[in-house]
Amino acid sequence: MRYARQEIFKEIGKKGQQKLRKSSVAVVGLGALGSNSAELLARAGIGKLILIDRDIVELSNLQRQRLFGENDVGKPKALAARERLSKISSDVKIKFFVDDLNFENIGKIFNLKNEKIGLILDCTDNLETRFLINDFSIKNEIQFIYSSAVESKGYLFNAIPGKTACLRCFLHEAAGLDTCDTVGVLNTITGLISSTQANEAIKILLNKNHEKNLLFFDIWKNELIKIKIEKNKSCICCAKHNFEYLSGKKSSRIIKLCGDSIFQIKAKNIDKKQFNELKNKLKKIGKVADFGHCINFENKLTIFSDGRTLVKAKNEKMAKSFYSKFVGN
Ligand SMILES: [Zn+2]
Repeated sequence: MRYARQEIFKEIGKKGQQKLRKSSVAVVGLGALGSNSAELLARAGIGKLILIDRDIVELSNLQRQRLFGENDVGKPKALAARERLSKISSDVKIKFFVDDLNFENIGKIFNLKNEKIGLILDCTDNLETRFLINDFSIKNEIQFIYSSAVESKGYLFNAIPGKTACLRCFLHEAAGLDTCDTVGVLNTITGLISSTQANEAIKILLNKNHEKNLLFFDIWKNELIKIKIEKNKSCICCAKHNFEYLSGKKSSRIIKLCGDSIFQIKAKNIDKKQFNELKNKLKKIGKVADFGHCINFENKLTIFSDGRTLVKAKNEKMAKSFYSKFVGN
């Protein structure tokens, strides 16, 4: 009875529903995209969900992250998501990790010896983790869906190892990218992107014809653009199988400095223009002390024009999270 409306939908049927029941999906990042997609997939009857997130729920998340309520503020997102999803459905098995996904733990978390994950949803907020997932997926031949959203705009791409381009064929790492914390985000675009992501996930899991293009939506303008993405024949990841992020070669250089909880993160590349743009963006959302060669934001971040950032945080996980939110990478 539970899935009756989905089973009478001609593209899914009873057989498709059984297949979904046997599927497992990993969701990396439980912000607006990840929590919404996880909810849709749990309700749709996916058998197993693996949830990974390093952050805790904040009041400013509730505008768009539909799995969380006021009672969850301060709780780890992965735990709060597990609690909510198990109330929605006792059918779905949930494994959760309150952790920062990195090259050292990705193998353990995805423990492929026991069971191969059918699909990974990339719902993270930074390119470093996205490229790590990209490396892992290409190496282990696991399909994944890239999703991102800021302001009123969002992107979605189905990355199918061996068939489509991978993220490194068309995305390049840079510091100072816009983030939800610096330019804002509408809950309508995250709703649209996560709905599309859950929909593509179901099609991929059922081997149905799925989207081959990179999708771009601007919900404020009601604009949808399909962008054809060619495989890059000299792509370092999918063509040359040089897994720079999975091997740790490119993982962000974060070091704990002496003294009170200060971490140093070195950006890959930041030029004068990016530094000034970042400064202007941060000035709009908080207190910035400008010292010329460096700026201090809200007494928590000190960003240098050479790309170094000092972050005041309790631990490495929180330092990386804060960095991704405000500097963006
Ligand atoms: Zn590639």
